[in-house]
Amino acid sequence: MRLYLDPNSDFRCLHCRNFVSAEVMLAGVNNRNHCPYCLWSRHMDLFKAGDRLAACKSAMRPVGLTFKHRRKKYASAANGELMIVHQCVECESLSINRVAADDFADIILEVFWASMAVDDHTREQMQLSGITLLGANSQDRIYRQLYGQAVPA
Ligand SMILES: [Zn+2]
Ligand SMILES: [Zn+2]
Repeated sequence: MRLYLDPNSDFRCLHCRNFVSAEVMLAGVNNRNHCPYCLWSRHMDLFKAGDRLAACKSAMRPVGLTFKHRRKKYASAANGELMIVHQCVECESLSINRVAADDFADIILEVFWASMAVDDHTREQMQLSGITLLGANSQDRIYRQLYGQAVPA
């Protein structure tokens, strides 16, 4: 069984055990780095996304959401891309990852609401890494990115 040693190979999720296809057409991203069903990942990358150089290889839990802002001259807070924040259950490393086209939107929302209760220690680590967790006031923007519409009344 291959456990995503090759970024382009299919794998079985460490957390929910579902089989995950690495097919780019399905994922909508080149490096499938988390499970679309439960959003758990695996600590594989060391310096940058897709380098697969980390020795850790433990499971990474989805702990919250953030927006990534491209460094464009006219970029405003409104056009950041929705990202999932992962934290390694073993070494506490943090990483942010693009949402894949087939990620379950409802699970992303579950992660979002659960992140309201993130403990102070984790929140502090995120601040040190320059990651700002989205709060309840971002709910509308999250809905628009996930479902293409505002929060249902
Ligand atoms: Zn999974
Ligand atoms: Zn780790």
